[in-house]
Amino acid sequence: MQPLEYVRAEDTAAAVALVSADPQAQYLAGGTTQLDLVLKDGVVAPERLVDITRLPLRGITRSSTALHVGALTTMAELAADATVGERLPLVREALLAGASPQLRNMATIGGNLLQRTRCRYFRDPTVAACNKRAPGSGCAAVRGPARMHAILGASEHCIAVHGSDLCVPLAALDAVVHVEGAGGARRFPFTELHVVPRDRPDVETVLRHGELVTAIEIPLLSVGARSGYLKVRDRASYEFALTSAAAVLTIEDGTIAEARLALGGVGTVPWRAREAEEILIGASARGETFRSAADAALRSPFTVPGTAFKVELAKRTIVRILHTLAAERP
Ligand SMILES: Cc1cc2nc3c(=O)[nH]c(=O)nc-3n(C[C@H](O)[C@H](O)[C@H](O)COP(=O)(O)OP(=O)(O)OC[C@H]3O[C@@H](n4cnc5c(N)ncnc54)[C@H](O)[C@@H]3O)c2cc1C
Ligand code: SF4
Repeated sequence: MQPLEYVRAEDTAAAVALVSADPQAQYLAGGTTQLDLVLKDGVVAPERLVDITRLPLRGITRSSTALHVGALTTMAELAADATVGERLPLVREALLAGASPQLRNMATIGGNLLQRTRCRYFRDPTVAACNKRAPGSGCAAVRGPARMHAILGASEHCIAVHGSDLCVPLAALDAVVHVEGAGGARRFPFTELHVVPRDRPDVETVLRHGELVTAIEIPLLSVGARSGYLKVRDRASYEFALTSAAAVLTIEDGTIAEARLALGGVGTVPWRAREAEEILIGASARGETFRSAADAALRSPFTVPGTAFKVELAKRTIVRILHTLAAERP
C-alpha cells in the first residue's frame, strides 16, 4: 500500500504553496473524480492530497456583462442560479444533463473542468498500453473496442474524450479561466485551457503544476439570443454523451447574425466548431445551411471502427439543435 497524506488547506496561498512545492501533490475538491482514481482504481498515485474545499472560492457574482463563478461553487449551485436560468440557459441545460443529483451536489466547477477522461483503458491499471497513464506505452483504445471515444483532435496516440458537459457551453461562450499559482495570478480564454493530445496525451491542460483554478467568468448572452444544449446518450440520465452540442444563434429577418457552436462527446478537448460558425454567420437560417455547417464541423475526423458512427451522429446533433433554435420565438 502506498502512503497518502491528506492536508486541508486553510487559505488559497497555502494551498498553492503546498502543491507547487511538491511534484507528488494534487488538489482534492469534491472528490467525485479524484477519489475514484486515487483510492478505488489506483490509476493515479499522488503522495499528498490537498483538500481545497474550505477555501473562500465558492459563490457566484454578476456584473452587467458576465457571471463570475468561484471554482468551488458546485454544479448544483450554478444550475440553480437565477441569472444562469435567464441569461445562460444552455449552461443550466448542460449542468443538469451531467452526472446525477448526488454528484452535482458534491462536484465543483473547477473539478468539472479538470475531470479526467472516462477512457476504460486509462482507468484500468492492468492495461499496459495507455500513453496518457504511461507515456510511450501505446494506446489500447485505438486497437480495442472503443465507443465512448473521441473523433476530433484524436490520433493514433490517444482517442480519449473530454467528458464534461459544462465545458461545451463554456467553449461556445468564450468563458475566461482565472488561476493562481506560485508565479501569481493569470487569466486566459477557456478554449486555451485544454490541450489537444497529439504525441503527449499525458499533458492535458496548460496549467503549471500547482496552479489552482480560482474562478471562471462567463459572458452573458445578449437578450434575444437563442441558445441550447443537446446531449445524445445511451441512457436518458446518468450517462456521458455520445455526442452533444451547445449552440447560440441570433437571427434577424431570417439571417443568422451571430452563431456560436461547440461540441461534446467527440473531442479530446471541449470542441469549438469555428468552421461551422463561419458558414452559419450571414447565411439564412434553414436546413441546408445547418447541414453545411455540420459537414464543416466534422470535416477531418479520426475514427476507429467503434467510433465511426459518431461522425454522422454528431452532424445530426448539430442540425437538430440548430433547427430547434431557429424554430424558437426570440
Ligand atoms: C459516475 C459519474 C458520472 C459522471 N457523469 C458526468 C456527466 O454526465 N457529465 C459531466 O460533465 N461530468 C460527469 N461526471 C464528472 C463529474 O462532473 C466530475 O467528477 C466533477 O465535476 C469533478 O469535480 P470535483 O469537485 O469532484 O473534482 P475532484 O474529483 O476533487 O477533482 C478532479 C480533478 O480536478 C483537480 N481540481 C479540482 N479542483 C481544482 C481547482 N480548483 N484547481 C485545480 N485543480 C483542481 C483535482 O486535482 C483532480 O485532478 C461524472 C462523474 C461520475 C463519478
Ligand atoms: S485513448 Fe488515451 S487514455 Fe485511452 S488508452 Fe489510449 S492513450 Fe490511454
